[in-house]
Amino acid sequence: MDIEAVADRILDGDRRALARAITLVESGREDHRAEARALLERLKGAGRQALRIGLSGTPGVGKSTFIESFGLMLVKAGLRVAVLAVDPSSARSGGSILGDKTRMEFLSREPAAFIRPSPSQTQLGGVARRTREAVALCEAAGFDVVLIETVGVGQSETVVAEMSDLFVLLLAPAGGDELQGVKRGIMEMADLILVNKADGDLKSAATRTCADYAGALRLLRKRAQDPEGYPKAMTVSALEEHGLSVAWEAMCELNDWRRANGHFDGTRARQARHWFAEDVRQGLLARLQTGEMRSVMDALAAEVEAGQMTPSAAAAEALEKLGG
Ligand code: GDP
Repeated sequence: MDIEAVADRILDGDRRALARAITLVESGREDHRAEARALLERLKGAGRQALRIGLSGTPGVGKSTFIESFGLMLVKAGLRVAVLAVDPSSARSGGSILGDKTRMEFLSREPAAFIRPSPSQTQLGGVARRTREAVALCEAAGFDVVLIETVGVGQSETVVAEMSDLFVLLLAPAGGDELQGVKRGIMEMADLILVNKADGDLKSAATRTCADYAGALRLLRKRAQDPEGYPKAMTVSALEEHGLSVAWEAMCELNDWRRANGHFDGTRARQARHWFAEDVRQGLLARLQTGEMRSVMDALAAEVEAGQMTPSAAAAEALEKLGG
């Protein structure tokens, strides 16, 4: 691949070049990895930044409906919007949450929008790195907003929150008075809780659910990166397009405040540090499973199993081999 030429086209906002570059960062081949690193290094100099919004919610809560309506609203306001996904289930099902062509049908036709399904990978770590690099490519291509979608299962929310400037949790109206079993850790990551489907018969339930979450949010420890009144809970209807502009205003208000107070840059710096350490960790794990180290590991494991070595002595020997 001609890195210089592709970089120039991406900087011009060429969506086909962007799509090709994302395919490159998704590849696991060593030569492709080297090219991807060179490309990302080259584009870094452009210094472009999008607002990265992480969006999570359980299947059926209305994520694709929301992204369609919300994305179209932003496009109408003159913004360029990219949509990426982190889908921990894609490896198992072979499909992906953004794979279905009927999703976001209108948004996908907009010239100012770019939608990319989650790569199917077996490990969340691999998906995370690729998505993070895809976000960087979208930023270089001049997108104003990058939406990173994930389903509310397992570790994927933490992964998405670690690459987002804002983290939005989409919830459905609750039937009773239960708080839908949303884990405290997930609540603590949210900047904005949107209770969707606040329309028709579900409207009063949505309003009640929203009040419950607003109360729950007030009980959380105040974070340094939040102004007064955040994190916030609001109701929306993705279907009827209600509350979307109010939600967008809240996102902008929060983001502006964080930028003005150094938290935007601070968070990004901390995230960069996190991903550096994470990549090293992943790289080390990969090394243990390939080449000469693999047989060293197997041999040591056999000795431990046979009781000829203690686990810690074997581990110390493995680490010494790895270091040398
Ligand atoms: P996802 O699995 O989270 O992406 O959810 P979808 O966007 O596919 O929506 C699941 C179902 O909820 C679909 O039948 C939607 O039409 C419906 N839905 C989504 N948003 C709303 C909404 O704001 N109000 C109502 N009443 N239904 C909605």
